[in-house]
Order: sequence, then C-alpha cells, then structure tokens
Amino acid sequence: MKPEQLQSALDALTAQGLLRTRRVLDGPQGVRVHLDGRDFLSFSSNDYLGLASHPRLVEAVCAASPHAGVGAGAAHLLTGHHRLHQKLEDRLAEFVGFPSALLFSTGYMANLGVLPALLDRHGEVFEDRLNHASLVDAAILSRARLTRYPHVDLDWLDQKLGESDASTKLIASDTVFSMEGDVAPIRELLALAEKHDAWLYLDDAHGFGVMGEAGRGALEALMPGMLDHGQAWPSRLIYLATLGKAAGVAGAFVAGSHALTEWLVNRARTYIYTTAQPPMLAAAVSASLDLIAVETWRRAALGDLITKLQTALAGLPWPLMPSVTPIQPLLVGENTDCLRLADGLRARGILIPAIRPPTVPQGMARLRISLSALHTPADIDVLAAALHELASLGAVRQGSHG
Ligand code: PMP
Repeated sequence: MKPEQLQSALDALTAQGLLRTRRVLDGPQGVRVHLDGRDFLSFSSNDYLGLASHPRLVEAVCAASPHAGVGAGAAHLLTGHHRLHQKLEDRLAEFVGFPSALLFSTGYMANLGVLPALLDRHGEVFEDRLNHASLVDAAILSRARLTRYPHVDLDWLDQKLGESDASTKLIASDTVFSMEGDVAPIRELLALAEKHDAWLYLDDAHGFGVMGEAGRGALEALMPGMLDHGQAWPSRLIYLATLGKAAGVAGAFVAGSHALTEWLVNRARTYIYTTAQPPMLAAAVSASLDLIAVETWRRAALGDLITKLQTALAGLPWPLMPSVTPIQPLLVGENTDCLRLADGLRARGILIPAIRPPTVPQGMARLRISLSALHTPADIDVLAAALHELASLGAVRQGSHG
C-alpha cells in the first residue's frame, strides 16, 4: 500500500459497509455508557461479570500505587518484575490448578509469544478455523506449518494429525469462540493431543471468570473432576486466560508446568522484549480474583439473563446462534443489513456491535450481543422490544442464515 492509495482503499471499505470507526467513551465501562456524548444501554463489552469499574478494583489500584508507583519502568527480565506480579502469578496458578503461571501484557502478546517459543518451521500447528486472530498470527509468526480445521471437526483433525510428520505438533483452540459463543470440545481435544503426542493450547479468554462453579474457567466447567481431586493437568496442556474481560482489568497469563513457564521466560519474545505491566494492575487483578471466587451470584445472574434473552428473542427473523455463554450473537447475514440493524438499535439508545468480515466469514455478519452480570431483566426486555419493532418495520432484510 502506497501513501496515495490509502484514501481510495478506505473509500472502498466504506462502499462495502466494512469501514470501522471508533466512538469515544466518557466515564467507566459498564452496561450503561456515555459514548460520543450520548447515553446508551450497552451489550457490547467483554466485562461479563461487571468488574471493570468495581470500587474494590479501583481501591486496589489506589492502595498499591503509592508503594509500587505507576509504570513498571522495565521488562520483567530487567527490574520490572515486581513482587505484586510474582504474588499474582502464584495466585493465578493455584486458582486454575496448574503448577506455574506467567503474566503477559495482553492476551494477544501471550499468544504471539508462546507459539513461536515452542515451534519452528519443522513443527505444525492445528487450529480451529474460528480461532481468534491472535492465535492465527501466532502460528504464522512461529513459521510452523499452519493447518486450520473446520470448526470443531474432530475427525478431520484426527486424520490430519495422523498424517503429519512434524517434529512438534500443537493443537490450538479457543475454549469459548469469541464471535460465536459456543464451546470447544476440550476433553476430546485433549484425547487427540495425547493420541498424537501434541501440545494442546487452550485460549480461555472468554471462559475465565465466567465458566465453572468458582469461575476458574472452561477447564473447571468441562473437566471438573480434575480440579476437585487435585490431580495434575498433563504437561502437554497449556492454558491461557486474559485479564481484560471477565476479570475487568488488563493483561493475560499462561499456565502450565514449571518447565514451560521457565522456557517462556527465556524464549517468548513478547515477554522478554516488552515493559512489564504496571504493578498496580496486578493488585487490581488480585482484588478481582477475590470477587470472582466469592461472588457466585454474578455467574448465576448471567445464566438467568442468557435464558431470558433466548426466550425474548425467539420469533425474530434473525436467529440467535447456539451458545450457552454470555456471547449471544444474532445472525443477520449481509454487512449492510447488519449495520442498518445496529444503527436502528443505536437510534433507540442500544449499543451492540455489528461484526463483519474479516472478523467473521462472508455473509455471516452478526450483532454480537454480550451480556454482563449487571444487566437487569428489564434491560433484556428493552432490547427485545427494540429488535421486534425493527423486525416489524421490515427495516432489514430477513437473514439468509435462518
Ligand atoms: N484470545 C481471544 C479468544 C480473544 O477473544 C482475545 C480478545 N478479543 C484475545 C485472545 C486477546 O486478548 P487481549 O485483549 O488481552 O489482547
């Protein structure tokens, strides 16, 4: 792309209904937000538990900063690794039941760090076709062969793993698919990893805090016996969770064996060559973990809201995609239809992002409704009434993917 080509490329995006723009938020993240000078009811954050602006997290930051300062000032391997980071890593490892955990500045950076640290051009990465972009980029950066399998098609994956003669194999999957909300078959993926002597890398960005009795994530929810009986996870299992979604702060951690995290400290370039996260944020995550574990009502509220939403949106021309998680996408189909529907909702004071290609496949544009424990049943009624009204106005063509 040359400088003089940028504007016409942007114009082309606009014409296709694919131009992305930002809106400015004033005040805290939440279910009611003040955006571009207007108040909205929002179904558009990943703040699933409603912790992003919780007073306990704010207090934790205020209490830590006089002692720890603001910036980490250096990478972890220099002088940036604060005691608050170390304590949090120990706590996170215990929380998710792994021997060791390592903090990264973001989930994107964690994914970009881990795969290239474990694989080279002799390896092969097997990824679900609907994995998050950061996992795809991580595989490309690793220089290993990248094989993307049809969404949760275990037979296909089994066959390709069997055919592969790569020196190191790694299966990577979202646990909760970020734009669909459905859940990966973790137990079966682990069995395949064992059968084919592969790593299994699970990205639990949208499960951590939300799934499981105590919010310990997808592994707790889908393989509960292991954690309850204090059994060790197999060393081929690598777990990633992000801390900017349900946990309400920022950053991510990778959990696994001691050898794994030690190797990452030595070889993960996105860990080594970047400034450590401000230590006060580690204090905020620690406060968040207290709430995640104890305030089980937040997960219970989400469960009730999901059921209510599914009932309230039945009968619309656009189907909800099958999901038991707080990510409840409404499949619209065409980009312009999806944008028009999002605009219609925005005119009624409701904010839901229109997710379009390349984030999702062509013809599968959708409204990504995401629920928070702080939504009320009345909020769902407001959303349902607006969608039914827009449907009756015929404002948007009926989705082609009913
Ligand atoms: N993995 C998945 C599945 C995600 O959805 C996201 C964020 N949308 C990330 C990783 C990246 O996490 P972060 O926002 O912390 O960079």
